[in-house]
Amino acid sequence: SALAQPGIQRLRAYDPGHDLVAFRRRFEGRHLVELGSNENPYGPSARAKEAVLGTIHDSFRYPDPLGGDLNRALAAKHGVDVGSILLGNGSHELLMQFAQVFAGPGVDVVASKFGFAVYAIAAQCAGATLRVAPCHADAHAMPRGHDLDAIAAAITDTTRLVYLANPNNPTGTWYDADAFAAFMAKVPGDVVVVVDEAYAEFVDAPGWASALTVQARHPNLVVTRTFSKAYALAGLRVGFAIGHPALIAVMERARESFNVNSAGLAAAEAALGDEEHLRWVVARNAEQRAALATALHDRGLRVFPSQTNFLLVQFAEPGDEARVAGIEAALCERGIVLRPMGGYGLGHCLRITVGNADENRRLLAGLDEVRA
Ligand code: PMP
Repeated sequence: SALAQPGIQRLRAYDPGHDLVAFRRRFEGRHLVELGSNENPYGPSARAKEAVLGTIHDSFRYPDPLGGDLNRALAAKHGVDVGSILLGNGSHELLMQFAQVFAGPGVDVVASKFGFAVYAIAAQCAGATLRVAPCHADAHAMPRGHDLDAIAAAITDTTRLVYLANPNNPTGTWYDADAFAAFMAKVPGDVVVVVDEAYAEFVDAPGWASALTVQARHPNLVVTRTFSKAYALAGLRVGFAIGHPALIAVMERARESFNVNSAGLAAAEAALGDEEHLRWVVARNAEQRAALATALHDRGLRVFPSQTNFLLVQFAEPGDEARVAGIEAALCERGIVLRPMGGYGLGHCLRITVGNADENRRLLAGLDEVRA
């Protein structure tokens, strides 16, 4: 490890939770309830699955290096030029690449306390200094959510990059369009603001608006989206960014050629064309999210507000992390996988993906057993 650059020596690798492959092998044939990774229980559009099959014969060819068809479909959907779009191997790749391109030694990267873990990893891999702004207090209407005033105040002369998530993972919290407008008015033009909207399709809160609605006004604002969540294509790894063509062009220089594979390109384009499936998934998620939040609340647990496909749930007071770890382990023994939050310093909480009705029922039955 002494051979690694200093940022990486201090780094812990991204924690994907349990070894799910080993877990599936162990529980083979039995019904597993996997609610640890914010995946979409309804699966992708049938059109996307068909499109993947259609790519098999040409899989000896490299994919379209420019992702032309998907780029054009995204540009048409979002009303921007193709030069405003950059495709990534999942949005994770793009989040890493922003730091590579805009940060580096001697540069500050600002993110919020409890912001998505990848922002810190990206900053440290780039050799930049991470400045963590405080989040809203637990008593706030958006507990542990981004405090945009505090984030703006953390920006210094050496800051070149800010990561926001709206909504955020693991908190599920969000901020509204007015707060964001006030924030952008304070950010210097030489600071790139990345707004990670991985869960945007699930949002139904009044007052929320995508940063895409104001992107054209801010050449330093770039928005990331993913096909992993609402479009249910996590395994095919497709994400994208929308920003000013000059910003996208400089990102393009650092992009790995062929970063998005042919199956992913075809599936994402087909999924984009099936708006009915998307609407159906989003409606099911909203209905199940509300029902699950109520059921957990009725069991005396603190459920934080969420506009995503997961809930952050407090199972004990801080200091009683061992009890929560025990509950989590006991659920695992019953084939129910949740995400432990110790890595975020929230070991008294668990993050629960909103499953389908059957999965949520099994989860609640399991919880009632292990907490009895
Ligand atoms: N941003 C957020 C906030 C996420 O929760 C995730 C996935 N957990 C990602 C980005 C990355 O997703 P992907 O690389 O699959 O697009």
